[in-house]
Amino acid sequence: MSTILDVQGLTTVFKTHDGDVKAVNDLSFSIRAGEALGVVGESGSGKSQTFLAIMGLLASNGYSTGSAKLKGQELIGLSTRELNKVRGLKMSMIFQDPMTSLNPYMRISKQLSEVLVQHKGMSEKEARAKALDMLDLVRIPEARKRFDMYPHEFSGGMRQRVMIAMALLCEPELLIADEPTTALDVTVQAQILDLLGDLKREMNTAIVMITHDLGVVAGICDHVQVMYAGRIIESAPVNDLFGNPQHPYTAGLLASSPRLDVVNGDEKLVTIAGQPPNLQRLPAGCSFAPRCPHAFDRCRAELPLLRKTEDGTAEDTHVKACHLEDHKGLAA
Ligand code: SF4
Repeated sequence: MSTILDVQGLTTVFKTHDGDVKAVNDLSFSIRAGEALGVVGESGSGKSQTFLAIMGLLASNGYSTGSAKLKGQELIGLSTRELNKVRGLKMSMIFQDPMTSLNPYMRISKQLSEVLVQHKGMSEKEARAKALDMLDLVRIPEARKRFDMYPHEFSGGMRQRVMIAMALLCEPELLIADEPTTALDVTVQAQILDLLGDLKREMNTAIVMITHDLGVVAGICDHVQVMYAGRIIESAPVNDLFGNPQHPYTAGLLASSPRLDVVNGDEKLVTIAGQPPNLQRLPAGCSFAPRCPHAFDRCRAELPLLRKTEDGTAEDTHVKACHLEDHKGLAA
């Protein structure tokens, strides 16, 4: 599978009245065609800012250094004009609240077909036909009847499907979904995840799923990277991460997530004590040390770098940033 996105040493800084805040710290990773990458972590871990930086959608006080190449094209440092040629066409992003992206005063048909007229140079008639096909593809019931309605006439789940349709209209190679199902009820959540899984298989689209919900990751992702305080602290194929977490933070996240496979009521959910660190005053060593039940002297003095675990294969590595030796006792 070819590499779609290759990120090397990406760092994102926000300038604030209290000084600089490093939200993303020296991140390197890649995504291949047809792969679904889960990016998990608590609020403030840098998971959304990483991809807003890649999309060129940071707040005006933010900037990025390092490299993010989409099929070889450098994105960091592109002008808005150049980015507009890439966004929507080669990569798209969908958000938790579709109403922030849909125009409430414009019919769905117009909003979808305009994308194709502007980006692909289609005629109005061709664009309408393709937009309607896309609504069918994302399983909007009776799409033809609903095509000329306004966003408020759609349910929350249907609006999210419309957003997915809009994001996929130009058949981008990378779809970034930022908590796309958080605002939806469980049944609709499952339908949207099924839909994204089918689209990944049928269109070979690379998908990034940014979420705090490990259930979402288990359902759709091939590979997972866990972020903490702006850094990747563990990255692994999804089964390795769930079966054999190697970083105490990952183990804590798993232990604090409800599991559908535990049916006898014996499951105990454990919270991770403490709070994420202040990004302006990160500790010298491991950022997780103040909350880690395994911390020892070296952790407080030396930043752990990502290294391969025993499970890591040359093909698909399992890596962690932790001074602990690999062991099997961290699984939830
Ligand atoms: Fe815990 Fe030390 Fe590993 Fe950090 S490096 S997660 S403090 S054991």
